Amino acid sequence: MYSGQQPIFILKEGTERTSGRSAQSNNIAAAKAVADSVRSTLGPKGMDKMLVDSMGDVVITNDGATILKEMDIEHPAAKMIIEIAKTQEQHCYDGTTSAVVIAGELLKRSEDLVEQNVHPTVICEGFRLASDKASELIEAHSIAVNQDMLEEVAKTALTGKSAGAVKEFLADISVRAVLSVAQDADGEIVVDLDDIKVQKKQGGSIKDSSLVDGIILDKERVHSGMPRSVTDAKVALINSAIEVKKTEVDAKIQITDPSMLSQFLDEEEQYLKSLVEKIQASGASVIICQKGIDDMAQHYMAKAGLFAIRRAKKSDMEALSKATGGRIVTNIDDLSSDDLGNASKVEERKIGESDMVFVTGCPDAKSVSVLLRGGTEHVVDEVRRAFDDAVGVVAVAHEDGVVLTGGGSVAAAISRDLRSYAEGIGGREQMAIEAFSGALEVIPRTLAENAGLDPVNTIIDLRKAHSEGKSHFGVNVYEGGVVDMSEAQVFEPSRVVEQAIQSASETAVMILRIDDVISSRAGSPMPEGGEFDGMGMM
Ligand code: ADP
Ligand code: MG
Repeated sequence: MYSGQQPIFILKEGTERTSGRSAQSNNIAAAKAVADSVRSTLGPKGMDKMLVDSMGDVVITNDGATILKEMDIEHPAAKMIIEIAKTQEQHCYDGTTSAVVIAGELLKRSEDLVEQNVHPTVICEGFRLASDKASELIEAHSIAVNQDMLEEVAKTALTGKSAGAVKEFLADISVRAVLSVAQDADGEIVVDLDDIKVQKKQGGSIKDSSLVDGIILDKERVHSGMPRSVTDAKVALINSAIEVKKTEVDAKIQITDPSMLSQFLDEEEQYLKSLVEKIQASGASVIICQKGIDDMAQHYMAKAGLFAIRRAKKSDMEALSKATGGRIVTNIDDLSSDDLGNASKVEERKIGESDMVFVTGCPDAKSVSVLLRGGTEHVVDEVRRAFDDAVGVVAVAHEDGVVLTGGGSVAAAISRDLRSYAEGIGGREQMAIEAFSGALEVIPRTLAENAGLDPVNTIIDLRKAHSEGKSHFGVNVYEGGVVDMSEAQVFEPSRVVEQAIQSASETAVMILRIDDVISSRAGSPMPEGGEFDGMGMM
């Protein structure tokens, strides 16, 4: 009866719209493509990726979050998957690849359910039940952590990274760094990772990296006539230039005879000399200046036996202020002995090709720095990423006090427990919970695949072990088969696993609920017909 009626346009011309099943399968395909692109990096035997940006800069990494950050992804659903990696990185420092891979698998399995005519809202409800149950199960499977285990947590996070070859060494630094900055706030352990300053220095090998109790400045003293090291240093922190002030207005000075010129220069010199004398009068033996220091002032400082650094970074000034207890002063006229910070040693050391300044023995014992070394820039950068993961998971495990066994063991255990939980639920939700349970097995399966093992046999072995109640059994990526991960000492913070499963599930639900994509941009990233041909670059 509507025949003859004109169609009504409510959207602007050029708007693209996909709806219903086609929108859904399109989004799922895009999300799966993202997950597939990082899959091969998972686990100890995962491979690295080399990413080249439009400027030709190269990043070589195994880190899921870094890979996804560097990829130029357009598709809105694909971007939602990348958000998972970002959230994971921010809250847990590790587990980014796992989170993304689980999300991809959840979506893949829900596609099968949709094909069997299970409504997306039912799938979402099942996933919600399953992820709530998973959180409970994670708590039940958690193990209280001790200091030796913290080291194993760090090693697990470093395994499979290029820096993994020296994992004992980096794990030891991570644990010492975290323990020295950890604070007890009303019975709760709090680790502020900002208290661990990381300095990268190219040259040497990873094993030349070290933990320093204090602050490291990537600076050298301004004058070679200055002492190389000062003990029981009194540190002046100045954030204005130690130079002759430039006039605010353009002034012209006319000099008519040579004596006038020398008088003029003398006055400048006298002024700088008086500045240095004022600093010296405060009792300072070390000057850290955030701005410039005039050559003449440098000369007077050297003559007075002072040690000075110029153009220090603002963040370093703040860190120094906190560590040494000194106050940052703007006006040198105001500088007094009360403003000075303390350090038992300030020393310039040759690190690789360049000089760095070490401020150690500060009253605030919580200030630690880590000097990361590596042969080339790419190595140092990847060591930095690996170290960030390691120090992050140690902090998380230390704060929460609980860990889980890795190697896919917990995924297998939760998968098993969810299967029996599903039976009690019944109906179509049961199918969704079973799909969720199956999706978690993507972790051990991928670990096996990446290690060149037969994934089917591994899953069969793993299921068998878990059905016998061996809940710590995971994939032996080195020798094949399955092994007790608590004996293999593979541990990861409970928070990492919990967050990975939760955000994967939430995002899968979010994507599943979309049945209409209205995109106003010209050249929409949505290809027609729900086909998504993966990502060109991978
Ligand atoms: P993510 O970005 O998710 O942290 P990784 O590439 O770091 O990805 O791999 C993490 C996975 O590797 C976890 O499931 C962890 O349990 C597993 N894993 C780490 N070390 C081992 C090991 N020695 N044996 C088996 N699995 C391991
Ligand atoms: Mg990791």
